[in-house]
Amino acid sequence: MTLSFGQNGVFFMKKALLRCKTCGAEYGADRAPFRCACGEPLDLAWNGFGIEANERCQSRRYAAFYPFAAGEWRSLGEGGTPLVKLETLAKELGLAEVAVKNESANPTWSFKDRGTASCIAHARALGYTKVGTVSSGNMAASVAAYAAAADMEAFVLVKGNVADEKLAPIAIYGPHLLRVAGPYYELYGESLRLGAERGIYFMNSDVPFRVAGSRTIAYEIAEERGFRVPDWVIVPTSAGGNLRGIVNGFEDLRRAGLTEKLPRFICAQAANISPIAAAFAAGAARIRRFPDNETIAHAIDNPFPPSGNRVLAELRRLGGAVLTASEGEIVRAQADLARCGLFGQPASCVPLAVLRRARADGIVAEGESAALVMTGSGLKYTAAFAAHRLEWRDCDLASLPAYLK
Ligand SMILES: [Zn+2]
Repeated sequence: MTLSFGQNGVFFMKKALLRCKTCGAEYGADRAPFRCACGEPLDLAWNGFGIEANERCQSRRYAAFYPFAAGEWRSLGEGGTPLVKLETLAKELGLAEVAVKNESANPTWSFKDRGTASCIAHARALGYTKVGTVSSGNMAASVAAYAAAADMEAFVLVKGNVADEKLAPIAIYGPHLLRVAGPYYELYGESLRLGAERGIYFMNSDVPFRVAGSRTIAYEIAEERGFRVPDWVIVPTSAGGNLRGIVNGFEDLRRAGLTEKLPRFICAQAANISPIAAAFAAGAARIRRFPDNETIAHAIDNPFPPSGNRVLAELRRLGGAVLTASEGEIVRAQADLARCGLFGQPASCVPLAVLRRARADGIVAEGESAALVMTGSGLKYTAAFAAHRLEWRDCDLASLPAYLK
């Protein structure tokens, strides 16, 4: 089905609301409130729906789910990533289906492009010419790339101790790249405060339109399966925005009458930094700051996730679970996925590690189906190669025939 929509962006922004699921407060999306006055994150409440057939790019295919006019999007072709079925793994785990949503197929090789595209459209609708983010990884590269495509000025703030080689893949897009000394956890709030003052739209990890961008992951998983949702969707979780967006996306589809039920969700964390898992296990309503441990799943090493409380509430509301994986289990999952032809960064492989745990614990039952969100490319974190035993051999041309026997 297709819905037509007009060219007047202001008309759409006035209709769209941002809602706090925690205290119920509502804000107009014609401003840029990044968090609720109660301190919790906001979700886009939007009743539009419709799917543009034969359109691969999410900002056109699912445009009717968003409150933007067509001219506000600056797409690089985000979304439309493959859902790859892994039959050998499914058989081994006793499941009807194990499918990997391969988000490394996005323009800057991670799921972040979906939320960045949505935030850029929102920033443009509100008349911003400057955008920013706080990240030294996937989100930083994504914001720098999309700002370049939209001809906007970008400010990327990274941790004081980030190595030079991690900065080059961000700097190549030409943003103002600032390595900021001082406590990293204060940068999130400080950037939003300074952004409001200086007219910079900071599209940080769990701001409303970044979360809204993640909804298309749910739309695509459902659509690919003929609008039958999988029993389980497993999402590697750092700030919590991606999981919130995917939950909202499946709820949109059900509300639109396109699907009959919701999947159940598993929040997947590295055991070494697992503040959401700790609070979930303790029955707590609020997360507590976790020790700043190391993990190979570097892209989800967030000791105090800004959407942590909200993720806890959503999982309890929907009968979900939070599971963790050890460093060894993450490395094994990365190798297993690579043997299936999928090379994800370690954080992206935590869902497979957690699925094994969920099968062993009986949380995921025999014969069920699971979709794993592989959030970013393995080439983003080449330091992980050192955790694997990778082999090659040398030979000379004359001895080559013997080697190829
Ligand atoms: Zn609130």
